[in-house]
Amino acid sequence: MMRMALLPSWMRRPLRWTLSKLAGSNVEAFTVGYTIVFLVDDPPMDLVVHEMIHVEQAKRMGRLRFWASYLWETLRRGYRNNKYEVEARRHAGQEE
Ligand SMILES: [Zn+2]
Repeated sequence: MMRMALLPSWMRRPLRWTLSKLAGSNVEAFTVGYTIVFLVDDPPMDLVVHEMIHVEQAKRMGRLRFWASYLWETLRRGYRNNKYEVEARRHAGQEE
C-alpha cells in the first residue's frame, strides 16, 4: 500500500527549492496519498518515520479528506503549526 519514490536528481533540485520556499523551511520529502517522495539521497530515519506518519494520517482519514484538511490547517496555522506536521514531528522525535 505504502510506496516510496526517489525522483531523478535533475527533478529533485528545482522541486526541493520550490517546496522549501512555499513551506518556509527545508523540504527533504513529501507525501502524496500513500506515496512518499524523497528529495534527498539516503534519507535519515527520522525523515522516513515523519513521512510514514503522513501516510498513516491519509489512511486514517481517507486521502481526499486528509488532503483537504491538511491544506486548511496550513492556510489557517501555517506549515509548521499544521496539526498534521506537529503530530508527524512528535512521532519522528524531531525537534519542536
Ligand atoms: Zn510533514
